Amino acid sequence: MSSGSAGGAVAFAALLRWYDEHARDLPWRRPGTSPWAILVSEVMLQQTPVARVLPAWQDWLARWPTPATLAADTAGEAIRAWGRLGYPRRALWLHECATTIVARHGGEVPASLAQLLDLPGVGAYTARAVAAFAYGQRHPVVDTNVRRVVARAVSGVADAGPATTAGDLAAVESLLPAEPALAVRANAALMELGALVCTARAPRCAGCPFTTSCAWRAAGAAAPDGPTRRRQGYAGTDRQVRGILLDALRRASEPVPRARLDVLWADAAQRDRALASLISDGLVHEVAAGRYSLPGA
Ligand code: SF4
Repeated sequence: MSSGSAGGAVAFAALLRWYDEHARDLPWRRPGTSPWAILVSEVMLQQTPVARVLPAWQDWLARWPTPATLAADTAGEAIRAWGRLGYPRRALWLHECATTIVARHGGEVPASLAQLLDLPGVGAYTARAVAAFAYGQRHPVVDTNVRRVVARAVSGVADAGPATTAGDLAAVESLLPAEPALAVRANAALMELGALVCTARAPRCAGCPFTTSCAWRAAGAAAPDGPTRRRQGYAGTDRQVRGILLDALRRASEPVPRARLDVLWADAAQRDRALASLISDGLVHEVAAGRYSLPGA
């Protein structure tokens, strides 16, 4: 799949053709989408499936179409609007991000990779995704799907192994076409291929644009060596308790007394631990002794 070889160029051309024909029509990919809307989509899509992100993204952008509009609201409102998307610290990060963008960048999402990386909650993946998809820059955008496709198509192994940011970025960067607009589309196409075709459990090689060049397929597509990863359960975990407590605070229009939280989960030690972690994450404030609310509420 190397972009430098004639065969690689053909494979990339096939990938881009496949993308043109099969990519999902997602609103954040449409021309004219603002950098802020793209940043919000990238944060929401981490850990959360597209189907759940779509309505939340539309509601969020209708309410806060710019960083300035979100920064003018409270962090608590961002957490309330996050609803049940999961991993609610992302709402807090987006609010901090908006505040920082207003304070440092005049309300415009910066285009420079270094400035993007400096925003609260924006890591190696999100910064490069915004620089590439919002500003058309040539950067490797490496998520789990891309790592898996590259591991299989280029390295001939079933799984990418543990993430190493620098190594993963360098590996994908070396493969991308030199021309920025093509590199941006190649990034999007690799991600989409990993999401739709080269999936972790059931790759559909017959419909893959790399079907004749893929190293893993050429080597006989041996199954992964290690044990199959099991999905972590949710029921009974601290995450579930945090979700229940936070949901109660989201629904409340005024501070909630401790007694009303205590009836929501029977295990007192787990409940205390969940509430303490919400407070330490900045998602919940104790506004008066034994009374809790979302921040800024
Ligand atoms: S040929 Fe199969 S294993 Fe190789 S990249 Fe395509 S879907 Fe993945």
